[in-house]
Amino acid sequence: MKYLSTRGHPDRRRFCEILLEGLAPDGGLYLPEFYPQVDDATLTRWRGLAYADLAFEVLSLYIDDIPSGDLRDLCRKTYTEAVFGTPAIVPLQPLQPGLYLEALSNGPTLAFKDMAMQLLGNLFEYELGRRGEELNILGATSGDTGSAAEYAMRGKRGVRVFMTSPHGRMSPFQQAQMFSLQDENIHNIAIEGVFDDCQDIVKAVSNDLDFKRRYKIGTVNSINWARLMAQVVYYFAGYFQATTHNGQRVSFTVPSGNFGNICAGHVARMMGLPIAHLVAATNENDVLDEFFRTGTYRVRASADTFETSSPSMDISKASNFERFVFDLLGRDAHRTASLFGPTLSGHGRFDLGSDPAFPEAASRYGFLSGKSTHVNRLDTIRDTFNRFGVVVDTHTADGIKVAREHLKPGTPMVVLETALPIKFAATIVEALGREPSRPAKFEGIEALPKRVQVMPSDADRVKAYITAHCP
Ligand SMILES: *Cc1c(COP(=O)(O)O)cnc(C)c1O
Repeated sequence: MKYLSTRGHPDRRRFCEILLEGLAPDGGLYLPEFYPQVDDATLTRWRGLAYADLAFEVLSLYIDDIPSGDLRDLCRKTYTEAVFGTPAIVPLQPLQPGLYLEALSNGPTLAFKDMAMQLLGNLFEYELGRRGEELNILGATSGDTGSAAEYAMRGKRGVRVFMTSPHGRMSPFQQAQMFSLQDENIHNIAIEGVFDDCQDIVKAVSNDLDFKRRYKIGTVNSINWARLMAQVVYYFAGYFQATTHNGQRVSFTVPSGNFGNICAGHVARMMGLPIAHLVAATNENDVLDEFFRTGTYRVRASADTFETSSPSMDISKASNFERFVFDLLGRDAHRTASLFGPTLSGHGRFDLGSDPAFPEAASRYGFLSGKSTHVNRLDTIRDTFNRFGVVVDTHTADGIKVAREHLKPGTPMVVLETALPIKFAATIVEALGREPSRPAKFEGIEALPKRVQVMPSDADRVKAYITAHCP
């Protein structure tokens, strides 16, 4: 399998070449040259597999530069009951007939990002070891991504993590999760500023090409193809649990921000998994809902990006969306490059509303959408608790709210649960008047000693810190 750029760069790369990279050299995103097709007999064979072996089967279709035995070992080492809490790894929980929750949040940091990041940690360690290289991961986080990256990379040979976060702005639970890590290769840097300042620092450091090369700076952001590919697996696993034979179709509703999670659903559907609809659920930051309703993709300014009670979906633009638009436009790299390059930087928006391809987003690719607000979120958390005795987190509540608007008799609807409620306790208390339950291993983490360096919002200070902590 070779990988191409959505913006038409002539190079074709192999999996391990793009594993440690971010964007393609022309600013595009990597995609496989084609989507491998999974036929009926293969689906039947995969139905009975344990999650780790299912992951191996899916990944084998996209990775041909890691020996099979090694790849299988990496999958088995990653997807264990010890790390993900259950033998099923992503168990399906029925709420009412035809409506299910797929649990993706029982990994080390209690959010679905662990599903991909845990694999990435093992792939990085493997590939860096093979090359005899090291990597310094520099990131910016407002919560879930940073902690998932740190828990995936802690103790891994050849990898250091330098994670910036806005000082004092993450929830106490999220701060405790990250700052209590005592591993020597994990560095928490709290920036006196907001999340955008952290992102600007990461950009400034990465734009210093000399520094970047010298200190082997890399990232683990959501545009990384390996993360997307790892997420494809749980669409298969969810489908198998919701059906008894391959003649049935299933829809998925996905709480969406950067379009990474649902883009993996798109890839699974393109491979032939019988998915009826993929429903994108947004919060008040409704960039994606607006596109799927009208065909207009409009990037929001920082001032127009709302801080909501489902904060991991507070995005101004959806960084993975270019992958889907590339497919929607019949893989026209020239048009994709012009829309996401000059058109977006010049006008902050593009409009496909009158393009003949636009109706195909729904008709051919199965996309639907909806939006959920703070009031909807509280109502859904209350309603789900009262009717089913289940406490869901704020992002998952957005998913359930929107899923209900798209239920079709005879087609099971699976809502992806993207975090556990304990991560967003304040809103749960607002909705239910009580604290969400806390998994035993997180009892008292707020009281643990913290390892964090507070710093002014200054890229040079961050560079100096990195220099001082690399031998
Ligand atoms: C990251 C995240 C999302 C959004 O996922 P995308 O892949 O960016 O669309 C939703 N919910 C939670 C809890 C998250 O951490």
